[in-house]
Amino acid sequence: ATEVRLASRPEGWPTAADFEVVDTEVPSPGPGQLLVRNLEISVDPYMRGRMKAAKSYVEPYKVGEAMLGGAIGEVVESTVDEFRPGDIVLHGLGWRTHAVVDARQATKVDPDAAPLSAYLGVLGMTGLTAYAGLLDVAQLKEGDTVFVSGAAGAVGSVAGQLAKLKGAERVIGSAGSDEKVRHLIEDLGFDAAFNYKNGPVADQLAEAAPDGIDVYFDNVGGEHLEAAIGNANLHARFAICGMISAYNATEPPAAPRNLGMIVGKRLTLRGFLVGDHLHLRERFLAEIAPLVRDGRLRHHETVVEGIRNAPQAFLDMLAGANTGKMLVRL
Ligand code: NDP
Repeated sequence: ATEVRLASRPEGWPTAADFEVVDTEVPSPGPGQLLVRNLEISVDPYMRGRMKAAKSYVEPYKVGEAMLGGAIGEVVESTVDEFRPGDIVLHGLGWRTHAVVDARQATKVDPDAAPLSAYLGVLGMTGLTAYAGLLDVAQLKEGDTVFVSGAAGAVGSVAGQLAKLKGAERVIGSAGSDEKVRHLIEDLGFDAAFNYKNGPVADQLAEAAPDGIDVYFDNVGGEHLEAAIGNANLHARFAICGMISAYNATEPPAAPRNLGMIVGKRLTLRGFLVGDHLHLRERFLAEIAPLVRDGRLRHHETVVEGIRNAPQAFLDMLAGANTGKMLVRL
């Protein structure tokens, strides 16, 4: 077995030296536990937060110990009746090839209903984040103009397409390369998109949304959030999902500088965590799975092979190498 441990807590951008890949004995399950051979593991932006010592909504990773994260695997050994060898389960002990999982912490998934990787992305945590953020938090209405940042990523690509499917009049996305901009418009059906590295976000957004925006799905924070406030219509609703532009920063962000506009425009800015919206999961799956199956909601993945490449996959994801969900296949 092999696992990835946190070797040190990074300051600013993490590097490969902050991780240690270690070979270990294959663990044995105790009573109430399963031995799972992981097949796909997830690398996610929130993990950058867990590399810090500061207490947050999730426990920090411990230096010298295996990291945690979403994973899909096959049950190899089971000590409980509810799970049999060969069952496919979703669980929270990623970053390793083999995991001993408490049966209560494992969720069986149907391997015939969708590709396994979908359970970590479009039909999993990131898809539910997009669904909850757009519908519950931002209260999307037909006819809205919607702006999504981080639009070519796992959450953003679902949020933008879902907005369109739910009757948004105009959906605008931002992303970090011209190829991603092409992908948003040509493959995912965004009405407009821009590369935030090509010029000031406020100017590019104003051009893409001449009539302003009613909903902002924020994955990025900073200059993007300032631009969204500046281009917001009266009573616009913001789902504040993440602020990835600040995750590796060593200084507080310079933007947004225009928070005063929140008053006059009567904006609603609401932060949320997907974990508070798990009650939507069944409705989400019932609605989204058919859209994925018939191709009306497209999902892309960037797949890296092998546990030893998991740290680099994570680092590359933070730097924007992924289109859609970044995954490590074992
Ligand atoms: P993504 O698949 O979107 O991958 C991260 C992307 O962020 C990269 O591909 C990169 O794309 C972009 N990025 C990196 N640095 C910057 C920057 N400085 N400015 C703008 N974009 C940047 O990840 P996820 O879809 O998993 O997560 C997206 C966001 O959603 C994150 O902020 C994450 O923390 C948040 N999140 C929140 C949850 C919640 O419960 N609130 C749950 C899940 C995710 P590019 O090439 O475009 O720069």
